[in-house]
Amino acid sequence: MKEINSEQYLKRIDDEKDVLPESEIEATLTRLNTPLREVAYADKGEERVEAKDFAFTFSYTPLDTTEQSEDIERRLARNHVDRGADYAKPENWRKLKTLVFELKGGEQIDVFKKLPSDSEILFCPTNEEFHGSVAHPPVRIHILGNLATPRSVVTLLHEMGHVFDEENLKVLGVEDMMDSKLDANKAEKLRRERSASAFAFKAIKSVIPEGQLRTDARVFLKGYALTSYRESIKEDIAENARMSRFLMSEYDYWMGSPGEEEERQLWDDFVKWRTTEVYKKWKALPENISVSFEAGDEYGHWCQWVKQSGYDFYKDIYPEAGESL
Ligand SMILES: [Zn+2]
Repeated sequence: MKEINSEQYLKRIDDEKDVLPESEIEATLTRLNTPLREVAYADKGEERVEAKDFAFTFSYTPLDTTEQSEDIERRLARNHVDRGADYAKPENWRKLKTLVFELKGGEQIDVFKKLPSDSEILFCPTNEEFHGSVAHPPVRIHILGNLATPRSVVTLLHEMGHVFDEENLKVLGVEDMMDSKLDANKAEKLRRERSASAFAFKAIKSVIPEGQLRTDARVFLKGYALTSYRESIKEDIAENARMSRFLMSEYDYWMGSPGEEEERQLWDDFVKWRTTEVYKKWKALPENISVSFEAGDEYGHWCQWVKQSGYDFYKDIYPEAGESL
């Protein structure tokens, strides 16, 4: 298992500059917040929601344990939710029993079959607020939102993405995928959010045909991952500020000058990149024919090429670092 270089990971994400203008994000959210059809929620029920080339059915019941109610109350209290809000009352929450997507070819995707069998999805059908969270084990997903809106469905898929990311880590036998540098924790949080959104988008690609809804989902997921990430590191910031004086001096002492470290890292990455298939293809490019690879010139040549082309070699070395949405 290769560790991910946390500093480079954070830097790489920082460099991704395809930010949409505020107005476009707003239009996206308006579309995603609009229910695909009006659903009048009762205590329990079964609904079929149909959109253009896309449909799903879901059924729900009231909450069925006091522990679920207590959990909801605890969570909302922690987030300082107004006690008067509809969703602050557990009796307004529902337990999702089934959720099945109907694919174009007649195939079906049963969401609960993808999750561990003791998983629970609890939701509050409100149009006022939207939010999602996941806890495990056992898996319990909370969705604050009307399931008939694309936004709630996409949020749910993102939260499910966390479950799959966690399972991947278990399979790999690790607790995280980062190195143990100063920013590793921050980078790991970001990786988790991006991984969850990447999972959700993969699921969406198989469920929702290309078009406005899919594009909106992609924009939303990218933003959702970043928002969750910012929320999760906010609590770290005070701690970091307190520790930074100490940590920085430690860091300088062990790492030498920043330039040196960067140079060393680039060489390490090059050595890793040299073992990939992309390297072979790169080497065979017509413009590289005159480079004397045997004489050790390739590293300098490669550095220059990376610098000039801005090539993202990182994704070749660490394909598991979460795809760019
Ligand atoms: Zn998340």
